[in-house]
Amino acid sequence: MKAIKVTEPYKVEIVEIEKPEIKNPGEVLVKIKAGGICGSDLGIYKGINSLATLPRIIGHEFAGVVEEIGEGVEGIAVGDKVAVDPVVSCGECYACTHGRHNVCSTLEVIGVHRDGGFCEYIVVNYKNLHKTSKDTPFETLCLVEPFTIGAQINSRGQIGGDDTLLIMGCGPIGLTVLQIAKKNGVRVIMTDLLESRLKMAKEMGADRVVNVKEEDLYTAVNEFTNNVGINVVVDAVCNTKSFEQAVEVTSPAGRIVVIGLLAQPSQIAQAGITKKELTITGSRLSNYKFHDVIEWMDAGQIKPEMIRTHMYHYTEIAKAIDVAVNNPQDVCKIVIKFD
Ligand code: MN
Repeated sequence: MKAIKVTEPYKVEIVEIEKPEIKNPGEVLVKIKAGGICGSDLGIYKGINSLATLPRIIGHEFAGVVEEIGEGVEGIAVGDKVAVDPVVSCGECYACTHGRHNVCSTLEVIGVHRDGGFCEYIVVNYKNLHKTSKDTPFETLCLVEPFTIGAQINSRGQIGGDDTLLIMGCGPIGLTVLQIAKKNGVRVIMTDLLESRLKMAKEMGADRVVNVKEEDLYTAVNEFTNNVGINVVVDAVCNTKSFEQAVEVTSPAGRIVVIGLLAQPSQIAQAGITKKELTITGSRLSNYKFHDVIEWMDAGQIKPEMIRTHMYHYTEIAKAIDVAVNNPQDVCKIVIKFD
């Protein structure tokens, strides 16, 4: 079968490898139909993702159809259309036994720590599979995974009700956070440097968008909140400065959700956190959010296809990656098809 492999930094190849087989109870063979390219795939491509070693078959956002099931598989049948949860956890560590398997102490992510879904077939445990009964196209079903990231962020920030929400950055993750927050009736202000991205945020329901190249963030937030400050900030810009700004613009009793993997420290004073009793929380991957996201998608409450801007056949992977790396103003989410 064919697989998309990053063999060394800045080198992606389509290689011929052996089709995987079911070897253990609970395993399922999935024929992959479509996958989304993520920023972290590009990080692996550039050789700057510290979690991945090369060579690596990339892809952690993918969907397909069940082709064969092993012993002891429950709730999944041949022919099911499935999205794949890429989180693989031990089930025994502190995080796993406290309902937080997405930060398992020996966490592995399919497509990052181990070979991923940009290939024709994969064998995974049935517990990683989530099916839809609807006629959702695979190029949309593969976008369930990024929406689980947005669902996790909404959950970690306890975003809902009469909250005001600032999402810094209108990339794919910022936009998934937006769609879920809007489904829950939250008022949302979003920032970016690119007009094309701000336009997408508007189309997906952002109440106010701010181009921070042209407009002052603090003034905009004060206007938006009648000088109260924003109740929740999701920092999807993830640089040292954005985290500092988040602490400044948040209202008393506010929350900040951090999703970056930057090693450089930000300058944040204790007083800024204590006086307002802020909650600063990390959010990583997702903690069993596939079921919820598929339900919202099937009910039409979220529209994953709205983040998709490009589609390519897997044989065009080099072109797809080139477009993703060099055209950030045009690209939100690229989907690769495997048919
Ligand atoms: Mn991703």
